Amino acid sequence: MSRLMTCIECPKGCRLELETDGSRLISVEGNECKRGITYARQEIEAPVRTLTTSVLTRGLELKMLPVRSSKPIPKGKLFAAMDAVKLITVTTPVKAGAVIAPDFLGLGADLVACRRLNKL
Ligand code: SF4
Repeated sequence: MSRLMTCIECPKGCRLELETDGSRLISVEGNECKRGITYARQEIEAPVRTLTTSVLTRGLELKMLPVRSSKPIPKGKLFAAMDAVKLITVTTPVKAGAVIAPDFLGLGADLVACRRLNKL
């Protein structure tokens, strides 16, 4: 199976031509360095994304607190993560980088605050 992809590991943005068997990378062409192969393999075999979203607050200066995962999580878990995020309400002041949910969904990544938020 052939597939086109743009490498986003550096500003060059090489256009990668991939051959896969659907779930495994077979070959890559168009990459100008080895990072393109690593990127392509990750995207085909185990894609990950950093979760960025917001959680509800109560009694704080903003109604929503922007949060992100402390490291990328499996792309296939993003919808489950978004469902879990809807159940979180932050009620105490937080500093930027504060852990809102440790080991979020057991994925080895914390959900952390992207900014400070004070009481109303
Ligand atoms: S393959 Fe290498 S040179 Fe090309 S975009 Fe990726 S990192 Fe940059």
